[in-house]
Amino acid sequence: RSKREGRNNYSFFTKEMQISSKRNLELSHALRTALNNNELHLVYQPQISLHNQEVIGAETLLRWTHPEFGNISPAEFIPIAENNGLIIEIGEWVLRSATKQLQIWIDEGIKPFVVSVNLSAIQFRHANLPESISEILKENSLEAKYLELELTESVTAKDPHQAIEIINAINEIGVKISIDDFGTGYSNLSHLKKFKIYKLKIDQSFVQDIKDDQEDRAIVSAIINMSDALGLKTIAEGVETIEQLQYLRSQGCQEVQGYYFSKPLVAEDFISFIKKS
Ligand code: C2E
Ligand code: MG
Ligand code: MG
Ligand code: MG
Repeated sequence: RSKREGRNNYSFFTKEMQISSKRNLELSHALRTALNNNELHLVYQPQISLHNQEVIGAETLLRWTHPEFGNISPAEFIPIAENNGLIIEIGEWVLRSATKQLQIWIDEGIKPFVVSVNLSAIQFRHANLPESISEILKENSLEAKYLELELTESVTAKDPHQAIEIINAINEIGVKISIDDFGTGYSNLSHLKKFKIYKLKIDQSFVQDIKDDQEDRAIVSAIINMSDALGLKTIAEGVETIEQLQYLRSQGCQEVQGYYFSKPLVAEDFISFIKKS
């Protein structure tokens, strides 16, 4: 009986895998024309300073709406783009579009703020990343200090020596680097000392249950204290409630982003949000 169960599980498993790989293949194929067909767009999530409640930044997040498949999450299509190599072209498009948009806003008289852009591991290791960042900034005549790049811990963990060189080259341009989803990856804390990093982003999984979970409270508090002691800024992600906000504030967290303030917004709505606040 156990054998038969085993076999059933096995065939169920492979069927799931076939479905998922069929979808992956279809998405991989569809992604090739997504840029040219204008299926990709950016949304911007406000980042709020807890000192003065002002919007001090925006995280750029990529969206894909396919005519047949509908909205596809970046959590699903970014790994596909990394596999088929399109992440380089798409990543450059994101950088170019975000910096162009910010320069347009500045030209329109909006008080300048920082836009942050997520970088994939493959983009980070791609030979001419620093040159391509410089070019894109020049193209859009945007000052480097208004751009921040988000890396996850796993991106820097792979080859720390190479990572230091790339991070130094990016710092030389004047672009800031933050560590995304901090606390969930390969937390090699010695990297924090070696890498010239500007900000830690506390992962939303620690923020979610802050109200009731003593351990999460302790972790969040420890990250903020360590970040402070190292001279880094701290931003908490995924803030949805007033209780979460109050705890973060009480622990000295400097910045927050999350649905409590706003979901990621299309450019037009983002500007209305800034003007209202
Ligand atoms: P991430 O960079 O950690 O982005 C944060 C995610 O949390 C976003 O999901 C955002 O919409 C969501 N979020 C923001 N506030 C809240 C909240 O209060 N509650 C909850 N539950 N969620 C919140 P999204 O947009 O689906 O992006 C998922 C991931 O996809 C990102 O995680 C990032 O790793 C990746 N991604 C998105 N855009 C890009 C991109 O342009 N390039 C690269 N390489 N990766 C991207
Ligand atoms: Mg991010
Ligand atoms: Mg994150
Ligand atoms: Mg993430």
